[in-house]
Amino acid sequence: MRLFVKLIFTYAIIGVSLNAEASCDFQIAVGDNLQFSQDKLVASKACGTVTIRLKHEGKLSKNMMGHNWVLTRSKDVSAVATDGMSAGLNNQYVKVGDSRVIAFSKMIGGGEETSVSFDIGSLSTSEEYIFFCSFPGHFYAMRGIFEVV
Ligand code: ZN
Repeated sequence: MRLFVKLIFTYAIIGVSLNAEASCDFQIAVGDNLQFSQDKLVASKACGTVTIRLKHEGKLSKNMMGHNWVLTRSKDVSAVATDGMSAGLNNQYVKVGDSRVIAFSKMIGGGEETSVSFDIGSLSTSEEYIFFCSFPGHFYAMRGIFEVV
């Protein structure tokens, strides 16, 4: 009986430390270079809705060094980014009505902030998701892993 209690206790501690990594609300900074402040986000399926807050701490305008946050499945990144280039800045460099896009924020320039909230209920814990910036040419470098746990 004592062993059983100890096992449960140990399991509870491991569970808590794993969950501590996951979040429902993420703050990401960008600047006048091709880099997100985080290269991996872990969201808990229990969140339901996840919010991404993007802040551009640089000085360059959005038509020169614009950044946004776009989420797709890993295999869709290149095609979505390529199609987005011709969509233009007014469409946040995301093809209008692109069903491969799970969520995206508007494009921002230096000193601006934006956020996007979306439901992750339909996302899978076994699928690989990537977030990236769809400003032309940025997705090669500006990307990270979005993991659902
Ligand atoms: Zn960018």
